[in-house]
Order: sequence, then structure tokens, then C-alpha cells
Amino acid sequence: MTAVLDTQVLPPVGVRAGAFGNATHLACRACGAQSPLGPFYACMECFGPLEVGYDFPRVTRAQIEAGPKSIWRYAPLLPVPADIATFRSTDPGFTRLVDAGNLAADLGLRKLHVKDDSGNPTHSFKDRVVAVALSAARELGLNVLACPSTGNLANAVAAAAARAGIRSVVLVPSNLEQQKIIASAVYDTTLIAIEGNYDDVNKLASEIAGEEEGWAFVNVNVRPYYAEGSKTLAYEIAEQLGWRLPDQLVIPVASGSQLTKIDKGFSELIKLGLVEDKPVRIFGAQATGCSPIVQAYEAGQDVVAPVRPNTIAKSLAIGNPADGPYVLDVVRRTGGRIADVDDETVVRNILRLARTEGIFGETAGGVTVGVTAKLIADGDLDPDGETVIINSGDGLKTLDAVAGHVGPKTTIPPRYEAFTDFWKGYTA
Ligand SMILES: *Cc1c(COP(=O)(O)O)cnc(C)c1O
Ligand SMILES: [Zn+2]
Repeated sequence: MTAVLDTQVLPPVGVRAGAFGNATHLACRACGAQSPLGPFYACMECFGPLEVGYDFPRVTRAQIEAGPKSIWRYAPLLPVPADIATFRSTDPGFTRLVDAGNLAADLGLRKLHVKDDSGNPTHSFKDRVVAVALSAARELGLNVLACPSTGNLANAVAAAAARAGIRSVVLVPSNLEQQKIIASAVYDTTLIAIEGNYDDVNKLASEIAGEEEGWAFVNVNVRPYYAEGSKTLAYEIAEQLGWRLPDQLVIPVASGSQLTKIDKGFSELIKLGLVEDKPVRIFGAQATGCSPIVQAYEAGQDVVAPVRPNTIAKSLAIGNPADGPYVLDVVRRTGGRIADVDDETVVRNILRLARTEGIFGETAGGVTVGVTAKLIADGDLDPDGETVIINSGDGLKTLDAVAGHVGPKTTIPPRYEAFTDFWKGYTA
């Protein structure tokens, strides 16, 4: 895809040549106005969100296949330098695409794959976006990695900064799951718990980002680069299917960045001739207790009214989603839909994924499997279509969600008779 460059878009000042690979500029998603590559995230004309634009060279399947087994095999399609794989990052990505025949049979689908992103270095898809944000931060001379987070992002930022040998500051809601707090704090990050929900944390982060020079808030001032990391989910799914696109996907939605970038990733592969063009229907999944985009979708609106989150799916608890309108655009344009399930259904579907496929997903995974079942029941998902769902995080980080529902079948003294007593009654 060749970008049409405004004459006003000058090469970035003070940034080394090739710092952003084949990326050429930032473009406003609302009005199209272009900005140079830099620590910019809002359009100077209309304050709309900025997105990275490229001038891609010819890239072949063989070139990609010869690359590292991480997101860096797609470096030519990301805003990162060509030698990115030599920098110290957590090297996320290339997680397994599980042929989920048992869950498919249980749901009544012909063919289902689970893209299991719990296999990333800090056990969620956030390692992908943080790795690209870290590269941008380094190239822009920003030396503190920071974020407001619903949990997983804090884990990924803290780990990536530790490995890169730079400082990190992570802001999280104080009511976050204990597992996610500890799994950030171990990296010796400056973890600050904020008395408020994610939207309060995010607002505070924006204020700090406006004042502190040299800080890269991965999902605020370097958000355009961060967001590009999610495209690698689309690239991997296509490559792992043998350079083919699936018919339909179900994707968990918080800010909506992941969903919109998976759509962008597919269209780039088509334009580069790496996969055959075909329609891919994209579906979004939210928890009922935080479903602002579902509400807008069902009301037929283009704007998303913020809500106050109240759900166990804390990683998806963003009441004011930055990419909400773009999620609506993608699901409507591709013939998909965005739907929600309640917390009880989330728990049931965490267990369903575990019991059918041996995959222990976090609450976001329960949301995605639950919404998949609902979309089938409503006749929105084609049971004969090849389907991919994303398991974006690890159940070990949200143990409280299932702790009251599962446990030992019995507790016995360490004696054989005690065991046989139990076993007789148990199997009878
Ligand atoms: C952050 C997150 C998401 C959604 O990300 P967005 O890009 O903000 O929509 C999904 N699942 C998990 C586990 C996450 O941590
Ligand atoms: Zn604009």
C-alpha cells in the first residue's frame, strides 16, 4: 500500500533513519490529516486519533517464514526498525492456534480454532502492543515506560521495562485482582494503586503524560504505535491457517483497539497479496456489566456513551472506550455484530473452555466463549463457517472468578481406606 504523503509531512526531527521501518507518517482516523512520526496521538486539526501509515515494500511469505518465532517476523509491517529482533524485548507472539474440535462440537460449530494468547511472556495479548510501544519509546528518546492499566497491560509494561533495563510506572485501579497486582510488582516497577475505576486512572495518566517529559505512556502518547502491535494477531492467524483467512472471528473488546487492528491486519495481508481476498466477519464480545459499545450497536448509534463498569471481567472494564466508534464501523462493515454476556455466563464459559480444550482462560476468555455461544444461538455466526476466537489472557490471573465454583472433591487423611471409602461412594 503506498501512502499518499502530504508535502507538509516532514521526516521526523531528531529520530534516526529507519527508526520506524516502513512507516511513513501518522494519519487522523477522523479527518485524514497527516502528522509526522513522533510522540503524537491526537490530530492537530480535529483532535481525532492518529494511526500509523506505511509505504510497504514487497514482502513475501518465505521472507516472513524465515524470521524469528515472535511478532518480529512481521517487522516489515510494523513501525519498528528492521533490526528490532536484536533489541532486548520480551519477544512476544507466535502463540499457538489450537484446533478446538471439542469446543466446536459442544458449541455446534463445524471448525473452530482458539488463538491462545495466554502463551505470551506475561500471559496476555498485551505483550504484543507493549513490545511495539517500547520500540517507539526508545526511538523517540522517551526513557520511562508507563501506563494506566486494567491489569494485564501493567504486567506487560513492567516486564518489558525490566528486560529493557529502563524505569516503569504503572497505574492501576486499587480494586484490581491480587494476582495482577503481584504479577506487576515482582518486576520492581513503580506500581501505584489509584482509588478509582479504570476510567479515573486513565484520566490521571493523560494529565501526567501532558506534564512529564520523557515518559512513554504506552496507550496514551505512543498509542498509535502500541495499537499496531495487535495487527500481529491477524498476521499469525492467517499464517497459521496456511496463509488463509478464516470466515469469522470473535474478539474480546475493552478499548476496541485489538478488534480494529485485527481488521486492519487482514486488509494489509490482502493488499500485499499474502492471502487471497475474502470476506471476514468480525464479531466483538463485551461483559454486560461494561458493554457501552453493545449498547451503541443495538441503538443503531455511531457514538458510544460512557458507562460505569461493574463486571468480574476487569481486563475489559473500560467504560469509555477510545476506539468504540471504530469497533462499530468494523462490525457493521464486515457483517458482524457486538454482543455481551453476564458474569454468571462468563464463569460458566471459563469452565467450558477449560473442560473441553484444556485451556484455562481469564474472564475475558469466558466473555468471548460465552458471546460465541450466544451468537450461534441467535443465528449470527454461521455454524459451517471456519471460526477463530481469541483467548487473550490467563485464568491464573483471575482465580477469584472461579474459586467459589471448583475445588477438591473431598479432603481425606493420608490412608488407603479413606481413599477407597471416598472412591466407592464417588463412582457408585
Ligand atoms: C486489554 C485486553 C483486551 C482488550 O483490549 P482492547 O484492545 O483495549 O480492546 C482483551 N483481553 C484481555 C485479556 C486484555 O487484557
Ligand atoms: Zn483529524
